[in-house]
Amino acid sequence: MGTVLAVDIGGTKLAAGRVDTDGRLLARALRATPNEGGAEDLLVAVLDAVAEVRSGDEAAVGVGCGGPMDAGGETVSPLNIPAWRDFPLRDRLAASVSLPVHIDNDAKALALGEGWVGAARAQRDFLAMVVSTGVGGGIVLDGRLLAGAAGNAGHIGHVIVEPDGRQCACGAVGCLEAEASGSAIAARTGRPAAEAPHAERERAGRLVGRAVASVANLLDLRLAVVAGSVALGYGDDFFGPAQAELDRSARISFSRGARVVPAGLGDEGPLIGASAVAWRALGRDIGVT
Ligand SMILES: [Zn+2]
Repeated sequence: MGTVLAVDIGGTKLAAGRVDTDGRLLARALRATPNEGGAEDLLVAVLDAVAEVRSGDEAAVGVGCGGPMDAGGETVSPLNIPAWRDFPLRDRLAASVSLPVHIDNDAKALALGEGWVGAARAQRDFLAMVVSTGVGGGIVLDGRLLAGAAGNAGHIGHVIVEPDGRQCACGAVGCLEAEASGSAIAARTGRPAAEAPHAERERAGRLVGRAVASVANLLDLRLAVVAGSVALGYGDDFFGPAQAELDRSARISFSRGARVVPAGLGDEGPLIGASAVAWRALGRDIGVT
């Protein structure tokens, strides 16, 4: 079956890659997400990255993109990409690359990748999260990736963790994304999230642990794997307080002992996850259905 093309579209950067049937990333191209210009400029940047990695044996394209979106990514409206509102990504991409295109939320894609060849391999119940510019999540329960009515299940970024906190882009107040995402940390500290002081890093970890505990208690799962530049960049400063808060708040018999750990695929996770969206659609066994 050869390979598939993988595309990851985020608020800060986008990437294209080529991934084989065993989840190996064979080629990768990175671009900054254009923050000036309109919808078409962003699509041009995506197509440019795809052209750089394409070899000709690809069976399909898998895409991970920020939410929300219509089921199947027919149209996408990523909260942190204002240029795309109801943008018809699937049709536009399919017309340009002449391959079937399969799109899902980027954090759901990550969950597929981590369950396939990452830190949640062979696990049937887990949460996968991205804590970077924004905060996203995907949930695998009973071996299945949860979709929800419109395909948006897992948006842990909009679980409330600070009832008197900051206004979120979604309109609510105190969402995890408004408190612990890279853009929230930058707004709170007045400098890039990567330069945040120790206390701010610990706070981000603590709030993520709080949200994870709610999910563990709600859904009877005991593993959260966390990716993204904020979480992985802060490392122990983040994961230590996250685990401590999870220990403090996941106290029911079935949630006690839940773990929050770094994602296993590192900076390859988004592309391997995007490829998993395509492999799954093509009927290949990736462990998660
Ligand atoms: Zn929100």
